[in-house]
Amino acid sequence: MDIAVKFDGVSRHFGEVRAIDGLDLEIGEGEFFALLGPSGSGKTTSLRLIAGFERPTTGRIEIFGSDATDVPPYRRPVNTVFQDYALFPHLNVADNVAYGLRVAGVGKAERLKAADEALAMVALSGYGARRPAELSGGQRQRVALARALVNRPKVLLLDEPLGALDLKLREQMQEELKTLQRSLGITFVFVTHDQGEALSMADRVAVFSDGRIQQIGTPEDIYHRPETPFVADFVGSSNVLPPDVVMDLTGIRAPASLRPERIRLTREGHEAEVVGSSFTGATTRLKLRFRGMPLTVQLPSDAAPRAPGSIVHIAWDDDALHLMEGGA
Ligand code: ATP
Repeated sequence: MDIAVKFDGVSRHFGEVRAIDGLDLEIGEGEFFALLGPSGSGKTTSLRLIAGFERPTTGRIEIFGSDATDVPPYRRPVNTVFQDYALFPHLNVADNVAYGLRVAGVGKAERLKAADEALAMVALSGYGARRPAELSGGQRQRVALARALVNRPKVLLLDEPLGALDLKLREQMQEELKTLQRSLGITFVFVTHDQGEALSMADRVAVFSDGRIQQIGTPEDIYHRPETPFVADFVGSSNVLPPDVVMDLTGIRAPASLRPERIRLTREGHEAEVVGSSFTGATTRLKLRFRGMPLTVQLPSDAAPRAPGSIVHIAWDDDALHLMEGGA
């Protein structure tokens, strides 16, 4: 697999703020790659560095093997889809999609043909004459996608592209985007703060915190084998057991992650006190106090209610307790 995008010791500082700090990252050609992290962790800055809207303070960025540092945005084989789409309301759909080609001096017949092809890619053939106001939110998002695809970039950058959509449409667009990426075979770099979205769509995920990458891996790696307490907690809100509790349980002094769905209520086993519970629809999350720490257990939503203050017994399989870095 060729490397589409490479960060080599890249930092981007804004005065005192280290938006990105010593980033090393390789994104393979044809990968669907997610940058996941909380607000302010450096995801958008990373994307803007790939696009060329920002320059590294130190380090360098390579795109398909060549140094991109002095290459301006419009000369990079890269395009960006933004969260707010930014369609021109007075232009029809075809002219919106073809806009970049018009600016680049491409003739009318050629750019309208390219716009038609791009609209076909996003399943909007026949919508070229409409105005953006005559489209649904999901259709507008697909127009923004077509506009970014019209000049056939080799890498598509997507910055929270589904953030403005309601949950149902968002889930539908997640599947459509994934299907589109597979059929086009181009590299997608996708920014999101939604861990479910990253896990369900990406081939690999980089988890960001404070301008640094905490872990890079497949969705399965990130979920089942988090390397740090931050990843365990941010991705799927795991229970993070402190080193002294883990020492008591296993004889090894290290923090460990224990997913709420891996804990069972049993007749025998460790004692814990019920603190409360919350009903989420598909499941009930039982909040316990276990060895002085809060512990969440996920149960089917039809599980018998447990009164706060009552004592339950809990157990889990050995492989459910995943040891992490940071025990020293
Ligand atoms: P969000 O999910 O909220 O968009 P993010 O993970 O994309 O967050 P960035 O936008 O990359 O985070 O910002 C990382 C840090 O850099 C933040 O502390 C932000 O305030 C800071 N930052 C970003 N751009 C600038 C700028 N132009 N000037 C000063 N500080 C900036």
